[in-house]
Amino acid sequence: MALIELTGVGRHYRLAGIDVPALEGVDLTIEAGEFVAIMGQSGSGKSTLMNVLGCLDVPTAGHLLIDGRDAGALQPDELAALRRERFGFIFQRYHLLPHMDARANAALPAVYAGVDIKDRRERAEALLERLGLGSRMHHKPNELSGGQQQRVSIARALMNGGQIILADEPTGALDSQSGAELLALLAELHRRGHTIILVTHDAAVAAHARRIIELRDGRIVHDSGAPADHQSAAPGATERGLAGGGWWQRLRAQWREALQSALQALLGNRLRSALSMLGISIGIAAVVSIMALTGAARGSIERDVGAFMQGRILVYRGNPALPPGAVPRPFRPSEVAAVSALPGVRGVTFEREAQMTARHANRDSMVNVLGAEPQTLAMRKLKVVEGRALTDADLGTRAQVALIDDKARNSLFRAGEAVIGRTLMVAPQMQVAGAGAAVPEGVALPVTIVGVVAADGMTDFGSWLGRVFVPHTTFSQKLDLRTDADTFNVLLDNSVPPDEVLKQLTYRLRALHGEEDFGTWSADEEFRKFQQITGALSLLFAGVGAISLFVGGVGVMNIMLVSVSERTREIGIRMAVGARQADVRLQFLVEAVLLCCLGGLAGVMLSWVGSQVLNRVQTSLHVEVSWAALGVAFGVASLVGLIFGTLPARRAAALSPVDALARE
Ligand code: ADP
Ligand code: MG
Repeated sequence: MALIELTGVGRHYRLAGIDVPALEGVDLTIEAGEFVAIMGQSGSGKSTLMNVLGCLDVPTAGHLLIDGRDAGALQPDELAALRRERFGFIFQRYHLLPHMDARANAALPAVYAGVDIKDRRERAEALLERLGLGSRMHHKPNELSGGQQQRVSIARALMNGGQIILADEPTGALDSQSGAELLALLAELHRRGHTIILVTHDAAVAAHARRIIELRDGRIVHDSGAPADHQSAAPGATERGLAGGGWWQRLRAQWREALQSALQALLGNRLRSALSMLGISIGIAAVVSIMALTGAARGSIERDVGAFMQGRILVYRGNPALPPGAVPRPFRPSEVAAVSALPGVRGVTFEREAQMTARHANRDSMVNVLGAEPQTLAMRKLKVVEGRALTDADLGTRAQVALIDDKARNSLFRAGEAVIGRTLMVAPQMQVAGAGAAVPEGVALPVTIVGVVAADGMTDFGSWLGRVFVPHTTFSQKLDLRTDADTFNVLLDNSVPPDEVLKQLTYRLRALHGEEDFGTWSADEEFRKFQQITGALSLLFAGVGAISLFVGGVGVMNIMLVSVSERTREIGIRMAVGARQADVRLQFLVEAVLLCCLGGLAGVMLSWVGSQVLNRVQTSLHVEVSWAALGVAFGVASLVGLIFGTLPARRAAALSPVDALARE
């Protein structure tokens, strides 16, 4: 079976609607191990024929068989595989990738074959060594002479085996000595079993081949035929390229190359990349800022309110809006019961307080005594700074224990005096008898101080009197036997919206009291107020973010289209050495995603700086860029990159290798 067989091959170009026949009715058979020169004048169709032979171009008529397989029936990726595994191209203008050194250029075909990086470097070094470029491994093409560059391209052609070497005017750009060396090299490769197809317009060059085919106006006008002994000793027994690894290794090689070339492209156009990132940066900054701000608002509410405060409404006696002199009434049990019966209310808990006299040793002081519930401290933003808090056991046993705050401590104890374990006498009423001495009326209750509390953080709902907290059970059953409440908690069951319950409750209590001599406070209300603020801000930022991301995405798409058209020749080179369409697509997609992610990083940094500034100038909101925001930022940036990079990447992948190569 012939290595390459053409029957009736034609290749017509259409130029502005005019049919240009570059090849017409070409019948040609080339056996393995031949050294063929294709000759003809400029424009006779030599390059067109070579591109068809090398599966870079698809004929418009006739058939091309490679090893008996019809190349016309192959998919682009199968053609890429053929180029990668069987062919090695040598071009007049070398077609090396300018930003890669000699070794990387030579190794490129093995990347797409999925050869491990260490192995492909070793082989590239061995090939370059053999071609006399041992000391030029790390030179970029522009640091090499024409002859040297052409030898790098030979190394590249041999990288994956290069059973069939296709050379299009390989000496065209070389001085005569380099040209002669190159031809000697081709002859040497022919001796080693490579099939050589050499395209030239120069009869002297063609004379090195064993068979000469002459083209004129796209037709073969002369074929010297193959001499009986033209084949090398062992046709086809050429050195093999390295075997590619499994899918995993191929994937790794593919991704590494894509990342490397993307980075290279971005670094090569720093200013342009930075400018095109701008929109993405602003968009991502907006997204991250939304998250930081809403997070800060939520944190602030949680700090101020406490999660346990959700689902309840606090009703307290007194209202700043009352006319001066008016005495707010406490809540009678029947009134509390009426509230408790409202729809949406799960139950009611009391909290009571009263001014009483406290005595320690010979010191008396007016204090506010509060019947404490388990959540009282947290609700009042207090924390235990000494001793312990009240426990459920204290409440259950109506223990005679108390917590005092700093004010109570200062008024009842000497500075520095230990207070834990001391006993305090509290009396519900008092009468001033005589001058100075205050005598409690009725029975005073001794309570043991178990802890000291202080304001937790900046917020302080402190009273002007010192405070003494006793278990509410102790309070209502041993101290203050009144049945009216000063404060009560309405627990919601979520069957009715909190603001609706609040409305009903206010309405009902106002009716019962005849006036609004009470106040209410609800976490949900607080929450809603916050959400209104943060919601409006979020909406603003989301709008800015979405628009910036869209504009940024279009900018990235634009710059990527420019990048694709600038690097068309590079794409052609990669395809010629066997890159699949997916490889090319990946390369540009990765570049777009990388660009967007870098823009995203800048955006995250922007909002981080913003958050720091915000935290410096104010203290009510603590803004922080979270890891989650970072994750979302990169997610969004990658998505924008994927969406807006797809069109350029597809366009790059859809290029035909021969068109891409021809582009300057
Ligand atoms: P050679 O390599 O022998 O100089 P080519 O194969 O490059 O010749 O070109 C053969 C003919 O096809 C020429 O007339 C050329 O103008 C035409 N041709 C080559 N490439 C294209 C193309 N991409 N579009 C239109 N015409 C082309
Ligand atoms: Mg040509």
